[in-house]
Amino acid sequence: MTDKEIKNSNTSQNTQNTESALPIHETPRGNVMVIAEQILGELQPVTLELLGAGRLLTDKLGTKLVCLLLGHNMAETTKKLIQYGADIVYVADHPELHTYRTLPFRRVVCDFLESLSEPPHVTLLGSTTTGRDLAPRIAAHFETGLTADCTELDIGPYEHKSKIDPSKLGLYPDCLYAIRPSFGESLKARILGPWKNPQMATTRPGVMIPLRADPNRQGEIITVPVNLKPEDFRLNVAETVREIASALKLTEADVIISGGFGLGTPEGFALLRELASCFPNSAIGASRKVVDLGWIPYEHQVGQTGKTVRPKLYIACGISGAIQHRVGMSKSSTIIAINKDPDAPIFKFAHYGIVGDVYQIIPEMIKQLKCVEKEQGEKTIVHSH
Ligand SMILES: Cc1cc2nc3c(=O)[nH]c(=O)nc-3n(C[C@H](O)[C@H](O)[C@H](O)COP(=O)(O)OP(=O)(O)OC[C@H]3O[C@@H](n4cnc5c(N)ncnc54)[C@H](O)[C@@H]3O)c2cc1C
Repeated sequence: MTDKEIKNSNTSQNTQNTESALPIHETPRGNVMVIAEQILGELQPVTLELLGAGRLLTDKLGTKLVCLLLGHNMAETTKKLIQYGADIVYVADHPELHTYRTLPFRRVVCDFLESLSEPPHVTLLGSTTTGRDLAPRIAAHFETGLTADCTELDIGPYEHKSKIDPSKLGLYPDCLYAIRPSFGESLKARILGPWKNPQMATTRPGVMIPLRADPNRQGEIITVPVNLKPEDFRLNVAETVREIASALKLTEADVIISGGFGLGTPEGFALLRELASCFPNSAIGASRKVVDLGWIPYEHQVGQTGKTVRPKLYIACGISGAIQHRVGMSKSSTIIAINKDPDAPIFKFAHYGIVGDVYQIIPEMIKQLKCVEKEQGEKTIVHSH
């Protein structure tokens, strides 16, 4: 780290004027690294989202977007990572890395980072079960900062004026702005940890936007050595059982029909399933209240403590629209709310609102959608020129 003296820096957005000289803490601008996530060989969508977010950061830093992939026989996945924006894919291929286990994965990631002449500027993981387990272990190993559950990422300057630790005083030109909702989601907090690279963050699945795949995109593929130690195998995975619930791809659905306490009874979800069946690639969501009541498993929960979703269409049925629910679905392209209370908060941000009883509105919607399906099935389409 080289410190320089400057006067009246105009590079900071945070402080307009620095009357006294401030040291600049300049680190070489390192790459942005995404740690890819695969489950039993299947690349998880959050990785592509992280590459989309990472690309914006590398464009600002003028560096490379690199991806570290741990797994076994992942040649096709490697190509996909390049198509979605990675400049370099580092591949750690080993049979023991096929299934995620904390200690072997931690070993490989930390060994790899230590082998680099320059640490990445930023390292990103998904806020998934795996990412939440692995990220803090890497951060602790390198004694660097980590912000969990980010919804936005950016690069920008920061002036540290606190004199508590004089060695930290000064301007940090290229900080990771790890932005996430705070204080019950009522505020967006920008969290910085510029003291040391890599600056780390995890992002919620479904929030960042992946780039469009470019099949012609070229990148470099570099093999990473894997040196696992006996102590990495203190825990053995006897069997991996994928429940039906975990197969539900709520974050990948184009249409989500979500139910809340207004359904009155868990059986109400049968009606929502019928509505969902009218749409291809649809899934069932839920508010936390009905999850807490045991009406539907947690995997369906949308919101602050559930999943963040961004479907093309979100139909909220008997959901009041509490802020904790809203943060998980407000980026949906179209939101339709059905609620019998005209003053329900959800109507303030839904694109279309239907005031009425779910048990009257939804059967009518199903009827209409089925009529459309039937008509489309029967229609002969004649293309005019
Ligand atoms: C730290 C924290 C984290 C949280 N995380 C989440 C989260 O991740 N996700 C989440 O959803 N919540 C979360 N919550 C809970 C949240 O604050 C709300 O309590 C919850 O979202 C309310 O669920 P609901 O809308 O189903 O129920 P209610 O608020 O009770 O709303 C039910 C709605 O249904 C309407 N209604 C009733 N009958 C009918 C009918 N027959 N037809 C049509 N409409 C009808 C009512 O008018 C009402 O608006 C969290 C809370 C806290 C404190």
